Amino acid sequence: MMPGMQVPSHVEYERATSLEHALTLLAGPDARALAGGHSLIPMMKLRLAAPELLVDINGLTELSFIRLDGDELRIGALTRHADLLGSAVAGEYFPILTDAERVIADPVVRNWGTIGGSLCQADPSEDLPAAFAALRATVVIRGAGGVRTVPVREFHVGPYETVVGPGELLTEVRVPVLPRSSSAHLKVHRRAGDWPVAAAGAVLRLGGPAAAPVVEAAGIGLTAVGAPHFVAAEAEEFLRGRPADEESFAAAGAIAADHCRPVADQRGPEDYKRHLAAELTARALRQAAARALGEA
Ligand SMILES: Cc1cc2nc3c(=O)[nH]c(=O)nc-3n(C[C@H](O)[C@H](O)[C@H](O)COP(=O)(O)OP(=O)(O)OC[C@H]3O[C@@H](n4cnc5c(N)ncnc54)[C@H](O)[C@@H]3O)c2cc1C
Repeated sequence: MMPGMQVPSHVEYERATSLEHALTLLAGPDARALAGGHSLIPMMKLRLAAPELLVDINGLTELSFIRLDGDELRIGALTRHADLLGSAVAGEYFPILTDAERVIADPVVRNWGTIGGSLCQADPSEDLPAAFAALRATVVIRGAGGVRTVPVREFHVGPYETVVGPGELLTEVRVPVLPRSSSAHLKVHRRAGDWPVAAAGAVLRLGGPAAAPVVEAAGIGLTAVGAPHFVAAEAEEFLRGRPADEESFAAAGAIAADHCRPVADQRGPEDYKRHLAAELTARALRQAAARALGEA
């Protein structure tokens, strides 16, 4: 047994045979969905979570897909990290997702951990919430009462808290495809496979002539630095209409750093994390611009 790890308290287990079955089971008292289990099982071992019923959703293969549908990329909640990392269509339209997946944990976690689990865990240091926030994705939540869609920027309401209610499941993430745009995600971690000290994702939609491009819209996601809803909203606003150049990107990075609220922990002191927020934001913007212009 790992130091600090305990045995989880007693828990019932049911394997859902259909989406409806899963929703019925999840409506019961203190039931939790079990996807890859890479976050939930350690939380249970530490007694930070003690559900009465685990509803295993791994049989719901209809929730595992990545497909382009009109002007959206649709990603099923049960899609594994490894599948998103290997997806050609995701890589072509949203390199930010490939960048992020490449540095999430290790192959063992990526082979079984899911996109839905990653978003629903709502760990403030998770990479994907920042990437999807930068992309202004929408999530689809299904419950007995029907389906609702929620902007991912409103999905996380606090550390380890989302808007998914009892009896509901996150079923899908939808990402809008934007013309003349690209994206990037950069992370600093202490060693391969580790959680981020800080990470930033950027999405840029450019206008104007290729020789002097202008930012039409920017999305900036930050993780592990206490950015509200994983977003650097003030830096995004600053960039709109400005030249897509070094000066703008550096200034946007400084604004992002000013507005985040990192806390010191074993990964580093507050001012170091704030410095990383500035630097990673500027670099992610630079890389997104180069990709949008076909230079990278
Ligand atoms: C060693 C290690 C290193 C890691 N490093 C990183 C990292 O660097 N960056 C990073 O971003 N992440 C990292 N992770 C986290 C990893 O990405 C998540 O553990 C994993 O993706 C969570 O997905 P899961 O399918 O295992 O979720 P689970 O553990 O099964 O579930 C997590 C939570 O989400 C809920 N849930 C799951 N699916 C749904 C759904 N469809 N609808 C509603 N609720 C749902 C569960 O009830 C539970 O509360 C790391 C994990 C480990 C173990």
